[in-house]
Amino acid sequence: RNGFMNERFMLSVDVGTTSIRCHVYDKQANIRGSCTSRLVPIYPELGHVEMDPEALWQGFTTVVKGAVQASHACLNVALTHTLIILPGRKTGTPFHNFISWQDQRAADLVKSWNTSLMKMVYFLTRQKRSLAASVIVFSPQHVTFRLVWALAHYKQVRQAIKEDTCCFGTIDTWLLFKLTKGSVHATDYSNASSTGIFDSYQMCWSGFLCSLVSLPLSIFPEMADQQAAMFGECCFDVGDVKITMGTGTFMDINTGSKPHTSVTGLYPLVGWRMGSDVVYLAEGNAADTGTAIKWAQELGLFSDVRETSVMAHSVSDSDGVCFVPSFSGLQAPLNDPKACASLMGLKPSTTKSHLVRAILESVAFRNKQLYETMLRETRIPITKIRVDGGVSSNDFIMQLTADLFGRKLVRPQHHERSCLGAAFVAGLEAGFWSTQEELKKLQSSDRVFLPRGPAKEGALSPDQEYFSVLQSWERALRRSMNWYE
Ligand code: ADP
Repeated sequence: RNGFMNERFMLSVDVGTTSIRCHVYDKQANIRGSCTSRLVPIYPELGHVEMDPEALWQGFTTVVKGAVQASHACLNVALTHTLIILPGRKTGTPFHNFISWQDQRAADLVKSWNTSLMKMVYFLTRQKRSLAASVIVFSPQHVTFRLVWALAHYKQVRQAIKEDTCCFGTIDTWLLFKLTKGSVHATDYSNASSTGIFDSYQMCWSGFLCSLVSLPLSIFPEMADQQAAMFGECCFDVGDVKITMGTGTFMDINTGSKPHTSVTGLYPLVGWRMGSDVVYLAEGNAADTGTAIKWAQELGLFSDVRETSVMAHSVSDSDGVCFVPSFSGLQAPLNDPKACASLMGLKPSTTKSHLVRAILESVAFRNKQLYETMLRETRIPITKIRVDGGVSSNDFIMQLTADLFGRKLVRPQHHERSCLGAAFVAGLEAGFWSTQEELKKLQSSDRVFLPRGPAKEGALSPDQEYFSVLQSWERALRRSMNWYE
């Protein structure tokens, strides 16, 4: 509450991969105060990506203070999935840095799981669904095997588990732990479900999976209610799809009151739980979206990301160049943590604009792969598709994605929907807003991207023109797979 104006606000924090942001919203969902702080990942060795928990806490307090000189009624936090930490129960001092979702150290463990026990788990899941966790095909992005890795490699963690002085958590757990001076060790259903260790059928940590991979149940946090960016896009109904393109791409479909068990690596998540109603999502992801664009920028292909759309449009095609966006492996539906990033088909005639076009195209191509996997697997008719995240500012990627999907895409005016979604959920709980219908009316003016038809009669439509380009790109994907074997 702002004492002077006597107006109430919602304060929301989004912990992303590259930055931490705080926004203060009024009742019309207008941003009334903001503060952003950069997060600097640590790269201890090739394939390892970490984050300093104390630096994260500093960033958190800085953005909250910076955004709000007024007052705050509620605090809610939206998070990048799946980072882990094991703070000492007694001291509150973390045993190690957060291990980022981009980190590849668990790739070997994941691969051996997926090729051995995967079939057995799937078999059991089909036999008796509630016995098994909902994730069948694991990726290094799931917390599960990074936690297994940490237990195998950190002797003091194993010792602390024996002495019951160690607990596990994701970023939300850590921030809550710090905010409550160590008295609360909790998470929420949506974050728990993103770890891969959560049983979405029984709505609890999966004792079955824990026993299969030797994780002690004693270290897991309690659960409270909550959700994510899907909510900020008002994707409340079955078949609503949201695509967030930031550092990575996260595509989610609302599957209603049932979790979706996937064989192609889609991820069954708890979207949110309100009272006794649980809404589930199926999520597909591509790890290298913003990272690929940032890499191209650091290479000197352009100086400002806003130039990329114009550069891509300045050439009629990529000159046969294919880019495979796989700095952290390839996720669903290929599920290959050992794939490498690559540029294929380079020629003496290849220009910077061709390279930029190939990189932007690869983002849209991965979108298409994820979208088609989602359609094929869930068989849920898609009602609407909303797109957000930093990379959604790119008109070339947006238009090409709409063309390849053959569907209308809607991009909100403010692309930071995770922060708004967290504010919406907390605001509904706190009575700041009353109904989901009220939230739908607060949607800002949007930009619509429609699939284009042929430029003139008898010509090919853009998606037809891309048919052979896509075939070459898929060939490049296959050649990049299992590279780090
Ligand atoms: P995160 O929440 O994962 O930290 P953001 O949603 O803030 O990520 O998106 C940041 C990414 O968006 C950066 O990698 C940046 O390069 C990219 N980006 C921002 N604007 C554009 C643009 N116009 N074209 C392409 N990429 C963009």
